[in-house]
Amino acid sequence: MNMDISVIIPIYNEEENIGHLYKRLSAVMEKLGVSYEFIFVNDGSRDKSIHLIKELSTTHAEVKYIDFSRNFGHQIAVTAGLDKSAGQAVVIIDADLQDPPELIAEMYQKMKEGYEVVYAQRKSRKGESFLKKLTAKAFYRILSKITSISIPVDTGDFRIIDRKIVDILKDMPEKNKYLRGQISWIGFNQTYVEYERDERHGGETGYTYRKMFRFAIDGITAFSDFPMKVVTFFGFIVSLFAFIVTVFAIFSWLVLKNVVPGWTSLMISILFIGGIQMIAIGIIGEYLGRMNSNVRDRPLYIIRDSNI
Ligand code: UDP
Ligand code: MG
Repeated sequence: MNMDISVIIPIYNEEENIGHLYKRLSAVMEKLGVSYEFIFVNDGSRDKSIHLIKELSTTHAEVKYIDFSRNFGHQIAVTAGLDKSAGQAVVIIDADLQDPPELIAEMYQKMKEGYEVVYAQRKSRKGESFLKKLTAKAFYRILSKITSISIPVDTGDFRIIDRKIVDILKDMPEKNKYLRGQISWIGFNQTYVEYERDERHGGETGYTYRKMFRFAIDGITAFSDFPMKVVTFFGFIVSLFAFIVTVFAIFSWLVLKNVVPGWTSLMISILFIGGIQMIAIGIIGEYLGRMNSNVRDRPLYIIRDSNI
């Protein structure tokens, strides 16, 4: 069987959006005149999402679903979709209609011109809190500064990728997924289309600040040694400082022969060193934790049910 496009849609409490999304997506696909499948990955939703998807799948053969046993997170949901996808091209799109399905036509067109990856870059984002926009903007810029590969800024996972890229992604065994980084890392011909990011159609964001923070740490630790290097650098600076203070203390003891009134500064430096060491241990711990999860080799997700 030859399938042109697989569309992967991670779902976490999206009951208000599934119907509209399905309509808009189908319209786009029909207009393109391609063969396609929609892979809905239900990431432990607590609402009626999975019922709506199953209902759609009974009347529409192109609707497929993967139902997780619990919430495993957005990146893992997309990964499960990639693992099961059959299309020559694969689209990753959010379910909340913040990513306009109509853009897929333009992205697919670009792909036909010879690109393996066409990602969608946000010119603006509507209906998101000031803090979310600010943290996202800052994060993408910091990440692009400290990584060796160029991960495009203001770009989510909304994109179309070639089967080749999908197959390589499946061969990357890392468990802490940062797909947009991995895809940049893979290379080939990549380009982008710009778009205005819409407001969420209904429901509310599944990305709490906690999840965003975890995701940011995943992105940084997967693609940058910068945090470790900073700690090492500060380690040297602090050691140098300690050395100077030591020389001064010996000098004032032997030559100036006065009591070193250094209790305060001593306390400060001890605390300072202690603090730096703790940060260092923390960061090393982050990396060790990731190694550990790879060594453990747990399954990345557990599927309760699937019709693929
Ligand atoms: N999502 C998911 N698992 C999660 C959180 C989100 O599968 O734990 C899905 C969600 O249903 C949506 C996409 O990932 O299709 C993006 O999430 P969301 O719109 O909540 O994030 P935001 O756009 O606010 O960054
Ligand atoms: Mg959203």
